[in-house]
Amino acid sequence: MNILVINCGSSSLKYQLIDMNEEKVLAKGLSERIGIEGSRIKHTTTGKKEIIIEKPMSDHKEVLEIVLSTLVDSEHGAIKSMDEINAVGHRVVHGGEKFANSVKIDDEVMKALNECIDLAPLHNPPNIMGIEACKELMPDTPMVGVFDTAFHQTMPKDNYIYPLPYELYEKYGIRKYGFHGTSHKYVSLKAAEILERDIKDLNIITCHLGNGASICAVEKGRSVDTSMGFTPLEGLAMGTRTGNIDPAIIPFLVDKENLSMEEVNNLLNKKSGVLGISGVSSDFRDIEEEAEKGNERAKLALDVFVNRVKKYIGAYTTLMGGVDAIVFTAGIGENSAEIREMVCNGLESLGIKLDEEKNNVRGKEALVSQDDSKVKVLVIPTNEELMIAKDTEELA
Ligand code: AMP
Repeated sequence: MNILVINCGSSSLKYQLIDMNEEKVLAKGLSERIGIEGSRIKHTTTGKKEIIIEKPMSDHKEVLEIVLSTLVDSEHGAIKSMDEINAVGHRVVHGGEKFANSVKIDDEVMKALNECIDLAPLHNPPNIMGIEACKELMPDTPMVGVFDTAFHQTMPKDNYIYPLPYELYEKYGIRKYGFHGTSHKYVSLKAAEILERDIKDLNIITCHLGNGASICAVEKGRSVDTSMGFTPLEGLAMGTRTGNIDPAIIPFLVDKENLSMEEVNNLLNKKSGVLGISGVSSDFRDIEEEAEKGNERAKLALDVFVNRVKKYIGAYTTLMGGVDAIVFTAGIGENSAEIREMVCNGLESLGIKLDEEKNNVRGKEALVSQDDSKVKVLVIPTNEELMIAKDTEELA
């Protein structure tokens, strides 16, 4: 069975065509600058040379038309005809409280997705656009929606309710939802597989450390708490996002800096995090390089980032009454041995003993704790596309 996985952003579209019999990527690509000047698609069919298609593309439907014709192209394609695409899996950012699992998309689901727009005004509309475009171009192909929030719907109420007037939860659905659920689910399942243990016997803390970063407490295979909240702004310090701050800073800033709500939002989401502290970059490679050269603010940014990861590991260990494994994933978690070392350093009292030599890996699955470490530490490259494809295969 071949599954096409689609991930639409407001001006981008990522795709992968996966052969599920062998869990092999047949082709993949990325379209950027949709609807603005310079739109293009970078396409690679496995075993063939990457091609770049540069032409004006005004919307996601136009991009998908080109993607589909490229997939069946005799020179650059991966399949002979569209009939070889058995189902399409769509990444959807926010499923609110309506979706605790992936779903086969029908009219009722589309209605519910539209009702979730209020909760993710930047992310859900492009996701919906992608689904609509696919429905038009492939009306007979089954489609499945896979939600970033779904995995966290198992959180108990005392972990997702904010200490705000309860009516606001009832009226607007203001609560913790959590994100990166597909990634946390994938790496926790993979960790159990690598450790040759039943996930139902394990407490795992998964650290998705990328430009956006979140941590999840996975108890017996179920998310019981996670660091992102009502929006992906809560929790860890990130590339450009604050994570947790005292909410009273917001009215203070509005008053002192004469900022509009939009400007505050922009400051919290785009100008803060390790970029804001270091003044250098949001990219950890640049910050690590500057820190090594002695830049104090770059060092401070790394320390603040690591400090919060440690605090969540401590909190989630307590919450679950112990932890068996810690998983590092996403850009920083998979690639930065330094950050993994900084995080684990000082956590020996929790039974975490990192092996310096084994930790010297980048971008591949590895068990990086010492043999006698009570808590196993793993590096697992995330694969959200494969997780989406697996759910799609199951439902379609
Ligand atoms: P992601 O959002 O998962 O794509 O992660 C992107 C982030 O991973 C980048 O912003 C970098 O900060 C970080 N990253 C990627 N490679 C490395 C590396 N070799 N060392 C440190 N950080 C890295």
